[in-house]
Amino acid sequence: MNSLRPGAPLPRSPRWPARIASRLPSVSQTVKTLAFAALVAAGAWTAYRYAQRAETETIIERAARRLDVDESTLRGELTRYDYLPALLSLNPDIADLLRHPTDAALSARVNRYLADVTTDSQAAAIYVLDLRGTTLAASNWDQPISFVGQNFSYRPYFIDALHNGTGHFYGLGSTSRLPGYFYAARIGAGGRELGVVATKISLDSMEALWTRGDETVLVADANGVVFLSSFPGWKYRTLHPLSAAARARIDAKRQYGGPGALADIGLVPRRRLAANAEIDTVSPPNPLLANTPNPHAMDFVVVSRTVAGTDWRIMSLTDIAPARKNARYAALVTALGLSLATIGTLYVLQRRKVIAQRLAMRETLERMNDELERKVTRRTGALARANKSLRNEIAQHKRTEATLKATLEELVQAGKMALIGQMSAGITHELNQPLAALRTLSDNALLFLQRGRQDEAENNLRVIAGLIERMGKITAQLRRFSRKGPAELEPVAVERTLVNALFLVEPRLRKEDVEVVRDAGDGSSAHSDLVVLADANRLEQVLVNLFTNALDAMLGCPRRQLSIAVRADAADDAYVEIVVADTGAGIPETVRERLFEPFFTTKPPGAGLGLGLAICAGIMRELGGTLKANAAAAASGASFTLRLRRAPGDGVGELAKTDTNRAQRGAAEGE
Ligand code: ADP
Repeated sequence: MNSLRPGAPLPRSPRWPARIASRLPSVSQTVKTLAFAALVAAGAWTAYRYAQRAETETIIERAARRLDVDESTLRGELTRYDYLPALLSLNPDIADLLRHPTDAALSARVNRYLADVTTDSQAAAIYVLDLRGTTLAASNWDQPISFVGQNFSYRPYFIDALHNGTGHFYGLGSTSRLPGYFYAARIGAGGRELGVVATKISLDSMEALWTRGDETVLVADANGVVFLSSFPGWKYRTLHPLSAAARARIDAKRQYGGPGALADIGLVPRRRLAANAEIDTVSPPNPLLANTPNPHAMDFVVVSRTVAGTDWRIMSLTDIAPARKNARYAALVTALGLSLATIGTLYVLQRRKVIAQRLAMRETLERMNDELERKVTRRTGALARANKSLRNEIAQHKRTEATLKATLEELVQAGKMALIGQMSAGITHELNQPLAALRTLSDNALLFLQRGRQDEAENNLRVIAGLIERMGKITAQLRRFSRKGPAELEPVAVERTLVNALFLVEPRLRKEDVEVVRDAGDGSSAHSDLVVLADANRLEQVLVNLFTNALDAMLGCPRRQLSIAVRADAADDAYVEIVVADTGAGIPETVRERLFEPFFTTKPPGAGLGLGLAICAGIMRELGGTLKANAAAAASGASFTLRLRRAPGDGVGELAKTDTNRAQRGAAEGE
C-alpha cells in the first residue's frame, strides 16, 4: 500500500522553472512568429503606401480634369462679354451722350439701349462712365441700385480701361454689394477719349455648378483672397494671412467690402505631390471643419492652376480621408491575405511534412513487413524441412515398429516352439503309449475276428477308437498351440484357457507327480467363469510357460504343488488376476531382478534359452496386461501374477462368438 507515513517527505512536484519553461514557446518559434509579424506588417505598409499613392494620383488626375473644365468654363464666362465694348462703341448715341452728358433724352435712350443689351447678353449690368468715372447711363437706371450718377473712378477696371484700353476686376459691387466680374473698355482713342463702357458679370451660376461636385473648388485672386468658392464659408477669406499693405490696397479699391472680413482660412502646405498639387492641412477653428463630422485637422489634396488671362488661381481641394481609408482597407486586406497565404503555406508545408512522415513510416512498415515475410519464409522452410524429417522419422518408427512387431511375433513363435520342444518328451510319451496299445489292440482284434470272437473284436475296436480320439485331441491341442499369427484381442474365458494349458503340461504333471491346486486359499472356483480381454492362444502360451518353469523349479522337490488362483483384482474390479504359484526352490533376490531379461537363465545349457519370461512379459504388454514375479515368503516357492483387463459385461455374448470363430479356425486347419 502506498500511504504517507507521518514525517515522511512529501512527493516532489516537477520543478517550477522547468514547468514554466516547458510552456514557453521555443526560441525558433518566437523567431518564426516575429518574422511572420514583420512580413505581414511590411506587406500591409507597402500596400498602404501603394494604395494611398494610387488614390492620391487618381484624386490629382480627377481634380486636374475637373479644373480643366472649370477653368475653361470660367474663362469662357469671362471672355463671353469681350465683344460688348466694341458693340457699344458702334452705337452713336453712347458717344453723343459722352459728349453731351446733360442731354436727358439721349440719356434715356442710351439707358433703354443698355437695358436691352443686358437682357440679351445676360450680363448683370452694363453702364457708361465719363472720363471722370461718373456713370452717365446704366442698364439698371430704373432700379433702386441704379448706377446712374455713381462715381467709380477709384475702381481699378475704370483706371485700367482709361489708361490701357481695357480693365478687369472682380469685387463686390459698391452699390449693390453683389459680387461680380467687371470688364471695362475705353471708348474713343488717339487723344479723343470719350469715356469707358463697363460690364458687370455675375459668376453665381458657376459657383452653383461647383457646389454640386464632391470637391471644394475655389478661385483666389493674386492676394490669395478667395472670391469664388463651392463652399460658401470660405468666400472672402484668404489662403494665407494678408500683409497690411495688401489689405490697405484691397480696402482702397473697396474690392471685398469693409476691413476685417478677409480672415485667414489657415491652409498650411504639408507636402508637395507635383508641380500643381500638394497636400495641405486645415486646422480648426475653421468653418469648413465645423460642418464635418470630424472637427479635427483635415488634410486635402490641393490641385491648382492659373486661370489664363488673369492673375487668379483656381483650386480644387479634395478630402484625403476617404483615400486614406481605402488605403487602410487595402493594408488590412493585404495583411489578411498575407496571413492567410502564410498560414496556407505553413499548412501545406506541415501537411507535406506529415505526408512525408507517413510515407517514411509506411516504407519502414513495408520494410519490416518484407523482413518479417522473409523470416516467416525462412522459418516456414525450416519448419517444412523439420516436418519432413519428422514424417520420415515417423515412417522410420513405423517401419521399426512393424519390424519389431514381426520380430516379436517371430520371437513368440520361437518361444512357443521352444515350449513344444520342452514338452515334446512328455507328449511323445503320451502318444507312444496309445500307439503301442493300438498295435496290440488291433492285432488282438484281428485275432478275435479270425477266431470268430466278434464281441471281443468289437470291444477292442471301441478301445482303439477311444485311443485314437485321445491322440487326436493331443495333436489338435498341439497344432492349435503352435499356430502362428498376430495377437487379436477378444473375450477369453480364463477357465477354458487354463484347462487347455494344463492339458498340454498334463503328461509332465502326471509323470512328475505334481498336485494341481485350483484357487488356493478359499478352495472355491467362484471366479472360474471370469472372462478377460486377451488372445486365447497367447494367454495359453504364457500359462504353459509359467507352468513349465514351475515344474522345472519343483523337479526334485519333495513337495510338488502347482497352485492356480483366478480372482478379480481387489483394488480395481476392471482387472482379473491369475496367480500361478509353485512349491519349488523359489527365486533368489539376485535372480528376481533379472528375471525378465532376455537370455537370462539359471538352467544348465540346453535346458533353457532364458527367453521364456521375456517373451511372456512382451505378450502381456501386447495384451494390455502385466506379468510380475511376486515377492514370496521365505521357504516358499515362486509365485507369478498375470493381470488382464476384464472383458466388457464379462463378454458373455462375445465369448460365444469367439468360440464360433475358434471352431471355424480349427475346422479350417483340418482339426
Ligand atoms: P528359462 O526357463 O529358459 O531359463 P525363463 O525366462 O523362463 O528362461 O526363466 C528364467 C529364469 O527364471 C530361470 O532360469 C529360473 O532361474 C527362473 N525361474 C523362472 N520361473 C521360476 C520358478 N517358478 N521358480 C524358480 N525360478 C524360476
